[in-house]
Amino acid sequence: MRQYNASKRILVTGGAGFLGSHLCDRLIEQGHDVLCVDNFFTGTKRNVEHLLDHPRFELMRHDVTFPLYVEVDEIFNLACPASPVHYQHDPVQTTKTSVHGAINMLGLAKRVRAKILQASTSEVYGDPEVHPQYEAYWGRVNPIGIRSCYDEGKRCAETLFFDYHRQHQLRIKVVRIFNTYGPRMHANDGRVVSNFIVQALKGEDITIYGDGNQTRSFCYADDLIEAMLRMMATGDEFPGPVNIGNPGEFSMLELANKVIALTGSKSKLVRLPLPSDDPKQRRPDITIAQKELGGWTPQTQLDEGLKKTIAYFDKILTEPATV
Ligand code: NAD
Ligand code: UDP
Ligand code: UDP
Repeated sequence: MRQYNASKRILVTGGAGFLGSHLCDRLIEQGHDVLCVDNFFTGTKRNVEHLLDHPRFELMRHDVTFPLYVEVDEIFNLACPASPVHYQHDPVQTTKTSVHGAINMLGLAKRVRAKILQASTSEVYGDPEVHPQYEAYWGRVNPIGIRSCYDEGKRCAETLFFDYHRQHQLRIKVVRIFNTYGPRMHANDGRVVSNFIVQALKGEDITIYGDGNQTRSFCYADDLIEAMLRMMATGDEFPGPVNIGNPGEFSMLELANKVIALTGSKSKLVRLPLPSDDPKQRRPDITIAQKELGGWTPQTQLDEGLKKTIAYFDKILTEPATV
């Protein structure tokens, strides 16, 4: 029989992905029962391989665009491809994942009265006119461009979360994640940190899109997961949205030069066209996170996080996968 102690039954959708797998690790460490649901579109069993034999861990292949009937206390809704290359591969499925996925997970949360957290994104701000971006800013998103399936899907998911909150008194949490990197990013997912590191390690050209002066703020995965856990634990009166990220802001040229220096690579920089609607600058205002999440602040600076990520890619590029 189930023990009614501090241990909870927690559903992580997208749990076999980059961030989801780190979240599963932390939840297992904390003593919870974890149900990891994933359709393995961008995630892989390899990310949770070390958890497969754990008695409190379960892995289920399922697509969140279809209903899911399980009994849980909390839901972390992370299912959605995050890199432009992947979310643009099947844009209709991307929108369905955010929108139908949110409806199904909210319907589930409503039925079992679970608390539910949505992994939203800085992309809800689009190509922003305000800098840094704060939560009250409504954003500047192209509704019909190649990034729209992701941006508008995530915006609609936020709307659904707040409407279920108002209409059905659901306990919701919305976090807006800024670019996050670390071990278990997909080697071929096309995101800038994984691309540059893999290119540098293989001695291939480093691909700078546009002039390389566009900026991003990079948060290390461990800092992000810590903030997400703290957000889930906040009181019901604080649904968010809350920005989570590291405000250190770097141009893509600066990032490329750091990766070259840290890997000792002989790779050269090459220019490729800038994809359309690529945001020019992005930096989170994390005042609300710092106030509401018990003094949370990012601990890992870019150089330190890049070293750990480089070590990870160095290992997986040479080791064969077992699952
Ligand atoms: P990821 O691609 O590694 O993980 C997404 C996971 O969701 C994968 O395991 C994938 O297989 C799964 N998935 C996709 N569609 C699904 C579906 N229909 N049903 C079930 N599973 C599905 O990406 P990530 O970086 O780990 O991102 C996790 C979440 O955080 C995403 O919702 C993403 O939008 C959000 N986010 C990430 C970042 C970032 O920089 N990493 C930034 C903003 C928001
Ligand atoms: N749903 C689900 N699991 C549940 C409960 C609901 O996947 O445990 C899905 C179901 O497919 C439904 C959606 O969530 O379409 C929204 O549920 P809600 O109760 O909000 O609306 P309705 O059932 O009226 O469509
Ligand atoms: N980028 C780049 N070279 C690459 C991959 C990406 O210069 O090989 C740029 C991209 O144009 C964008 C930034 O890096 O300006 C971040 O891209 P990413 O896909 O990682 O995240 P997002 O654009 O969603 O923030």
